[in-house]
Amino acid sequence: MNKQRLLDKFRAISVEGKPLRQIYEEISSACMEEIRPDWGRRTRRTACYFSMEYLVGRAFYNNLMELGVLPEAEEIFAKKGFALSRFEEIEDAALGNGGLGRLAACYLDSAAARGLPLQGYGLRYRYGLFRQRFVAGEQVEEPEDWLAREDPWSVRREREKRRVTFADMTVVAVPYDMPVFGKTVNTLRLFQAEGSPEAEQISGFLYPPDDTDEGKLLRIRQEYFFSAAAIGEIVDKFIAVHGMHFERFPEFYALQLNDTHATFAVAEFLRILNRVHRVPLPEALEIARKTFHYTNHTVLAEALECWKEELVAQILPDIALILKQLHVFSLREWQKLGCTAEERQSMALLTDGYFSMANAAVYVARRVNGVAEMHTGILKEKLFRTAFKYYPNKFTNITNGVSQRRWLMLCNRELSALYDSRIGTGWRDDLGAIARIPADEAALSAFRAVKAEKKRQLREYIRKREGVTLLDDALYAAQTKRLHEYKRQFMTALAVLYLRFELKEGKREDFAPMVFLFGGKAAAGYRRAKEVIRFVNAVAELVAADEEVSQKLQVVFVQNYDVSYAEKIVAGTDVSLQVSAAGFEASGTGNMKFMMNGAVTVGTMDGANIEIAERAGGYNNYMFGVTAEEAELLRESYDPAAFAESNEKILRVVRMLTDGSLPGKPFEELYRATFTETYNSPDFYLCLYDLESYVDALLKVNADSRDEASFSRKQFENAIHSSFFSSDRAIEAYARKIWKLEQT
Ligand SMILES: *Cc1c(COP(=O)(O)O)cnc(C)c1O
Repeated sequence: MNKQRLLDKFRAISVEGKPLRQIYEEISSACMEEIRPDWGRRTRRTACYFSMEYLVGRAFYNNLMELGVLPEAEEIFAKKGFALSRFEEIEDAALGNGGLGRLAACYLDSAAARGLPLQGYGLRYRYGLFRQRFVAGEQVEEPEDWLAREDPWSVRREREKRRVTFADMTVVAVPYDMPVFGKTVNTLRLFQAEGSPEAEQISGFLYPPDDTDEGKLLRIRQEYFFSAAAIGEIVDKFIAVHGMHFERFPEFYALQLNDTHATFAVAEFLRILNRVHRVPLPEALEIARKTFHYTNHTVLAEALECWKEELVAQILPDIALILKQLHVFSLREWQKLGCTAEERQSMALLTDGYFSMANAAVYVARRVNGVAEMHTGILKEKLFRTAFKYYPNKFTNITNGVSQRRWLMLCNRELSALYDSRIGTGWRDDLGAIARIPADEAALSAFRAVKAEKKRQLREYIRKREGVTLLDDALYAAQTKRLHEYKRQFMTALAVLYLRFELKEGKREDFAPMVFLFGGKAAAGYRRAKEVIRFVNAVAELVAADEEVSQKLQVVFVQNYDVSYAEKIVAGTDVSLQVSAAGFEASGTGNMKFMMNGAVTVGTMDGANIEIAERAGGYNNYMFGVTAEEAELLRESYDPAAFAESNEKILRVVRMLTDGSLPGKPFEELYRATFTETYNSPDFYLCLYDLESYVDALLKVNADSRDEASFSRKQFENAIHSSFFSSDRAIEAYARKIWKLEQT
């Protein structure tokens, strides 16, 4: 790529009288043209990432930054009277839900930055994750029509389209390539389904509802569609270069399954080798077992996919047959290994007419990894205990990471400039260097100025977007992430009500004004999570209308939380709230973004929180609540009603759910979830049980924040010790420990 030539192209673009969109397209196209010669270079060995989701976010600024032309471009266009920041009005691609999809995007980013050949494969959804709005405090979903216009950052590869066959239809898979810029230019290849209206549905929606057989079939189609298109192409490429020497396949490819969604890729690989190229199945399986790897992202039962054999067989008879053959192989192998019947059952690929995609992935994968130390521990000791007993070497941990390019350099240029001024720009390629910045008075006072500026920018942004002005001169605490019971946004809202009582009683004279920021979407069919949104909004309204506390407490739930919103929030936050019920958050990556931007964590002993507290020093963070082991024991005898009865302060808070003191209808659903019938045991996630220790942690961080000097030191020490949580570190670990890739 020739930087000067690209800048000249920018200079030649006129902005006069052109619509925003056109200017955007012209600049983007100039970049695409310029990188073409570097794109798609062949490497000896390639890793391929199979993921149902890529939450890429806004491509524009990131791409210009990776190309090393962002500041110059801004200057060039500023001279023409055009601010590049105006492109913030243009939608970003939301082809993912949350953490897992954003992780995939960070990994692609890091691999390119580190010169590692990693190609992404996925689905090009017509409609990404819905847009969220609140009407009377309730979530309303609107379709996200991101393809209403052409996306200049992707290229349709008409000549590389291929067919994917189901029993009842043949679908055309058309690849769209997005470049991933860095030291190498890698590719994210997303397949679009075409050929008929039914075919088009396959890449219609991210997570269509799958509570009916109809919905499940569509989901199976989606998973198989992109996996099969990718496998077909990868095997064809292999044959073109190496002929039919499939035994050499693992020398050239490492295939990574991001959760179980692409497990059909294994079956498709076996199908092609065995049914098409006549490789005996045992040999094909040997090859697969050197090629595939599987990352588990969650221990929640609902996310460990099981597909009814009948349904799979209905549209993919060959694939169902192969999965069954795998099942038979595995039973034989386990017999030889001397597994008991119970052990075989726990690892079974097929039970009671259902395929367990996780067990299939574990059986075939050469490496299985969890995403934080604690999570990998749970995989070994609980979820995949038997497999760990017989295949201990399969299991490894790679703690998640986030890209410091998007989550620091792009979203916090002020903090980045501070680092530059202290140690030069070398840290931008080697984040570990920031740990050597002394936290001296000069650095801390510069850091305080940066934080104040980022808070001001956030305030401004929220004022524009939500029409709410955050309290000035307050401590900003944020809980932004998908809505889920285990993440316990509900508990944070209860904590706010608890604090409100304390303040009203005049007990907390020294309480520093505190803003609780929420953001996140609830799955459209997840009733209880949607009720939590309504509850938080009701608490926000109550607090805002209460003159006794409204200058001390504020609650704001921002609408349509997405990557671009996250960029603003992580930089402008003082306190990161990571309060999942211990044992349920596999890793979390939001926690890392906040840390990287100098927020302290108020969190539970869960996922990567533990590693964050280790690296930043326990005294710089605020851990609270029961541990996963304690929680499990506790659940055997826990009675939330009796627990609440015994504590007047908790009782008066939970009474508010139904006594009419909050605006809107009573919160019957949340009341039931806490006390009575529910799909889990009442208060399964221990929101009441952990409430007081949570409030204590909040009061502690609030009190500490009053000493500006020592509090900013805590924040700064979090920031400069965050390099372990760079996805560069994580991706290099994948490359070294799992994929055996070389850097180019
Ligand atoms: C990082 C990120 C997430 C993941 O957040 P967690 O707190 O780890 O659940 C979800 N959504 C968006 C938009 C993100 O940027």
